[in-house]
Amino acid sequence: MESGILIARLPGTKQDAKTLGFVAHLDTVDVGLSGDIKPQLLRYEGEPLILNDALNIVISEATHPELAKYRDQDIFFTDGTSVLGADNKAAISVMMTLARELKETGKAHGDIYFAFVPDEEIGLRGAKVLPLERFPVDHCYTIDCCERGEVIYETFNAGGATLTVDGITAHPMSAKNVLVNPNLVAADFISMLNDMGKPEQTAGREGYFWVTDMSGNQNRASVSVAIRDFDQESYNQRKAYLETWVPSSKPNIRKPD
Ligand SMILES: [Zn+2]
Repeated sequence: MESGILIARLPGTKQDAKTLGFVAHLDTVDVGLSGDIKPQLLRYEGEPLILNDALNIVISEATHPELAKYRDQDIFFTDGTSVLGADNKAAISVMMTLARELKETGKAHGDIYFAFVPDEEIGLRGAKVLPLERFPVDHCYTIDCCERGEVIYETFNAGGATLTVDGITAHPMSAKNVLVNPNLVAADFISMLNDMGKPEQTAGREGYFWVTDMSGNQNRASVSVAIRDFDQESYNQRKAYLETWVPSSKPNIRKPD
């Protein structure tokens, strides 16, 4: 165990078989709705499903078209007030079930390594310190999102930026040509990003900016953006574009004599 990483080996039962590895992350994303999780197992038959009667939270194919693939199946949902945490508890279940199945059925296999890592959701920190010398596999699979049966073999370049705007506040009666409203500068910034690709309008290898957080008052505003792009050159251009919003040098302010 190091940095919360857990590695286990299921000894092989077949000589000369390839060594396989499976990895899952233990942590769950925090989107401000990660408190008290109340899972429920519901059968989805194509009609909108009531997740939470008291709060009138309903899930349907109109807002979640991916549901269509899972008609007439039992599905775990939250009660609509929190994330479910299936990312990535579902993968942990898959790996533990695989280990149990192999042990119980006696099917032939080579050595199989399982690794559980923390802190994926805050910048892949667990994966970056996975001790590969203790994970000697021929092939490895990370079990994580998305659709059932989907295999992802490539990933994007990822980074993030936070733009902080310091405004100049003034009484509105004497604000003309003086007041700089940081909220409006932040809104201009976001509207510029609007046409440069966003997750809800892109697919496949298309890059995007994803505005993940914003806050502001009359003194200061802040916008956080995730940058994602498969193409390295395009990714660099996206970073360079964000930097154009930051003055290259501080104003030269002379102290009074
Ligand atoms: Zn995940």
